[in-house]
Amino acid sequence: MATDLSVPEAQTCILERTRPLEAEVIGLAQALGRTLAEEVRANRDLPPYDVSAMDGYAVRAADLAEAPRTLQIVEDIKAGDTPRLTLQPGQCARIMTGAPLPPGADTIVRVEDTRALENDKVEFPIPVKPATDIRLRGENMRLGDIVLPVGEEITPATVGVLATVKQAKIKVTRKPRVAILSNGDELEALDEPLDLSKIPDSNSYALMAQVQALGIEPALLGIARDKPDELAGFLKRGLEYDVLLISGGTSVGAHDHVRPTLTALGVAIHFWRVEMRPGHPIAFGTSGSALVFCLPGNPVSSMVCFEQFVSPALRRLMGRRRLFRRTIPVRLAQAVKSRQGRVEFIRATLSRDTSGNYVATPDASQSSGDILSMMRADALLVAPGGRNGLDADETAQAQLLDPSAWQHFLEIEKFFEI
Ligand code: AMP
Ligand code: MG
Repeated sequence: MATDLSVPEAQTCILERTRPLEAEVIGLAQALGRTLAEEVRANRDLPPYDVSAMDGYAVRAADLAEAPRTLQIVEDIKAGDTPRLTLQPGQCARIMTGAPLPPGADTIVRVEDTRALENDKVEFPIPVKPATDIRLRGENMRLGDIVLPVGEEITPATVGVLATVKQAKIKVTRKPRVAILSNGDELEALDEPLDLSKIPDSNSYALMAQVQALGIEPALLGIARDKPDELAGFLKRGLEYDVLLISGGTSVGAHDHVRPTLTALGVAIHFWRVEMRPGHPIAFGTSGSALVFCLPGNPVSSMVCFEQFVSPALRRLMGRRRLFRRTIPVRLAQAVKSRQGRVEFIRATLSRDTSGNYVATPDASQSSGDILSMMRADALLVAPGGRNGLDADETAQAQLLDPSAWQHFLEIEKFFEI
């Protein structure tokens, strides 16, 4: 613990001590946002037989190698029907999307490309190619195929796949139980009257919301004062959870009692301090299977540290394989100051230039106490530790935050123009 860790060293240290939790069985209606703990296989071929991809006519392509031609309709086939007849030369069947092809048919002609005549006859004005607009048996999935692997995040489409293979109940990884504790004599609780000499406890709630964004409902333990005895009582309760998040009191101030009190309670502290800004005085420890994160008290530092360290750990506990926020290359609208020797996470908004490439504008405020600047940010620009600042127009990596996944109609309209 003599030297400060780099960001990836700290992430590795945490993830080496983090394993997915046990599995539990839940119903499909509760599945969104959970992670599969067992692989799911196809329970049949899909489609189960060759079906039409269009409303139209099932025909024998050989009959329509030349056009125009007229065929006799001998059957009407809807989705779910079983065809009764085998098509003979000169015959066709009216067929709906998803309906099985009748024996003898080898292609589909869309109804828009035909002309209905009297006496159940239909004219085909243009020649037809075999194997058109047919969904082949098993082309989407084959009986016994693995359709969803372990670790798959359950999205709305995943729920659709699970219903397709008739999984009313599924095995998912249990969610971690998370406790949040704020620490500091100066803190004022949300329900206390406004006192200008105090600091409002915002971290409990920002952290709560960051945890909720992962689909986990955390417990708020409240505010522990800077007294070792009182703090110890709160920490003991917190250590009964899978994950304990503590904000404040982890630095070197005379009233920063969190780390020594944790140590006295038997928590092994694996690192303290990471070469980053904001967020330098972060610590991580374990007690049995419980993970303990000591986050810096400054509101932005607390949130940025959650993003880099807590969120990947929670995602791994939940069984996820993709643990980190997506990063994208962005062009810098202006130069960025940063100090060599530590990674800096710079709050920025994203826009697009005329070619559609992302441009990042650093927020005017980079103060770690300014929660409003965090609210404005679409992304955290990563200023690498090996560099002394970044130049305007340079390309940098940006970690996308939640709001960056959405955009205004004006930004996308042009992409859909015909
Ligand atoms: P500390 O890490 O305890 O030295 O706190 C650093 C700064 O963050 C101080 O200005 C604290 O008042 C502030 N702070 C600590 N805890 C919180 C919290 N729960 N909500 C908002 N600000 C906090
Ligand atoms: Mg404090």
